[in-house]
Amino acid sequence: MFEEQRRRLVEKLIEEGYIRRPEVAEAMLKVPREEFVPEEYKDLAYVDRPLPIGMGQTISAPHMVAYMIEAAELKRGDKVLEVGTGSGYHAAVMAEVVGPEGHVYTIERIPQLAEKAKERLERLGYGDRVTVLVGDGSKGYPPAAPYDKIIVTAAAKRIPEELVKQLKVGGIMVIPVEEEPGYQVLYRIEKGPEGLRVQRLLPVAFVPLVEEG
Ligand code: SAM
Repeated sequence: MFEEQRRRLVEKLIEEGYIRRPEVAEAMLKVPREEFVPEEYKDLAYVDRPLPIGMGQTISAPHMVAYMIEAAELKRGDKVLEVGTGSGYHAAVMAEVVGPEGHVYTIERIPQLAEKAKERLERLGYGDRVTVLVGDGSKGYPPAAPYDKIIVTAAAKRIPEELVKQLKVGGIMVIPVEEEPGYQVLYRIEKGPEGLRVQRLLPVAFVPLVEEG
């Protein structure tokens, strides 16, 4: 039942233009979103909307996961940092795209969510390709830097300097930025040899990026 629903959702996201490349479609066809949502929401796993995952947080809507992966031009072999693990769903889809040659580092500030996501990702076979970390992801994760791509799934007040530093030259970061109270825009930031190219993509609604200290 879920497989059929998943296939229909992926077809819809292709039609709507959120999924543009076959490797992203294949990745989303493989990852069972129903495993990443609480029991009481399983029936809604393939409705294209965010869902609560506890601790006041959400799993992003599937179209947003696809859109961010496409905007970052995520590809096989990439080393990617995700800030905001949440359920681990976005990390699993990215793990499918980067393949065994790549790696996903994902960092979550709420230990209970990180623990659950880690257990889930291991159970579903992503343990080798995804490293789940606990901490303030606005500071990045310097031990594995620099990254080909950085994906931030919580809204920042401004572009975190530390994350820009940890991006490779030629790398891309996709991050929601709260430009004014209650108004967030998804940014695509490309780090060139001469500086940053910042594009504003579309208005979005994410939970806030909580920065410590
Ligand atoms: N990518 C997630 C998924 O696939 O389920 C959805 C993430 S949810 C929209 C945003 C997450 O960012 C929340 O779990 C929240 O706790 C986390 N978060 C907020 N500020 C953070 C920070 N400074 N460092 C790490 N995680 C943070």
